Amino acid sequence: MFGLIGHSTSFEEARNKARSLGYDAYADGDLDMWCAAPPQLVERVTVTGLTGQTIEGAYIDSVFVPEMLRRFKTAKRKVLKAMELAQKTGIDITALGGFTSIIFEDMNLLREERVSAVELNWERFTTGNTHTAWVICQQVEINAPRLGIDLNRAKVAVVGASGDIGSAVCRWLQRRGVAELLLVARRPQPLVDLQQSLGEGRILSLEEALPEADIVVWVASLPQGLQIETATLPRPCLMIDGGYPKNLDTKAAAPGIHVLKGGIVEFWQDIGWQMMELADMAKPQRQMFACFAEAMLLDFEGIHTNFSWGRNNITLAAMDLIGAASLRHGFRALELDPAPQPATSLATA
Ligand code: NDP
Repeated sequence: MFGLIGHSTSFEEARNKARSLGYDAYADGDLDMWCAAPPQLVERVTVTGLTGQTIEGAYIDSVFVPEMLRRFKTAKRKVLKAMELAQKTGIDITALGGFTSIIFEDMNLLREERVSAVELNWERFTTGNTHTAWVICQQVEINAPRLGIDLNRAKVAVVGASGDIGSAVCRWLQRRGVAELLLVARRPQPLVDLQQSLGEGRILSLEEALPEADIVVWVASLPQGLQIETATLPRPCLMIDGGYPKNLDTKAAAPGIHVLKGGIVEFWQDIGWQMMELADMAKPQRQMFACFAEAMLLDFEGIHTNFSWGRNNITLAAMDLIGAASLRHGFRALELDPAPQPATSLATA
């Protein structure tokens, strides 16, 4: 059995959802009331993969909302309580979605093995980052040529390069072969460490990297106020919006700049669940975050272990393994839609 731990994208959206489900007390409650609320198992689902194999799963809403991020104790308790519920429900492998994996890593929750009387078994959880990284790499490889971008000649900026997903994307792109990797993050030392381990890559600020980048992979949670100077970007430019929340389509909207929601997969058939309705997916019945899909894939494959865990541990071998499973069981990385015209006609558009 697989599990998914998620949350609403805002307090307002969470209240609307509560009202639609008939939980009027929650819909009218303030943030303090929501902070005290326990996690909810809101949906059970049966999923049939492309091979005909069927698995069972459950979605747990952590009842966390991003407005709680600054309330550290609350955020921590929300994630641990949702994990406790997943374990008590008997779920074999559960993905930590959205901010929950970031809270887990940033607040070093590995130290918190015990929630109430329950000892958490880390083997039952995965961040889903290996599949997310693989999907983002697929999105680069499939969509760049459609825009007339030759990957072998392309400069690729990875914003969040020193992170868990970003460093894996850099290793994959290095093996694939690109003209140059532009490494972007705020703290210099982790970037220097990454550059040394790769044996290549140029460390730049965001402002320096963007005017050079044919492709930009965003794998960092970016500040709401971030402004992108679109006039200085090369044309065409492929932007993979892999961070959370996904907000680049409005920030980088300009002719010749193609923004694709990163780390999203589409299943081969409708699933018949409600859980993605509020996640701003174009096709919520079959599209989902790649990290969620990783829990399904691990269940399909009978790999009941913390496949993605800790920071900067993602190997190319693990990406290849989860990528092959992804295709086998009927997932496809989200592509640019509709298929754009080649670069020659874009230049005159
Ligand atoms: P990590 O915390 O491991 O890495 C984050 C990276 O972003 C670090 O390199 C960090 O370095 C950098 N960073 C953070 N803020 C900024 C900034 N303002 N400007 C430039 N760089 C910045 O996170 P993960 O790799 O686990 O996740 C990366 C992103 O992907 C997150 O936004 C996460 O929510 C999202 N995600 C999306 C999924 C999906 O859509 N399917 C699934 C899983 C995760 P530094 O601190 O030095 O700046």
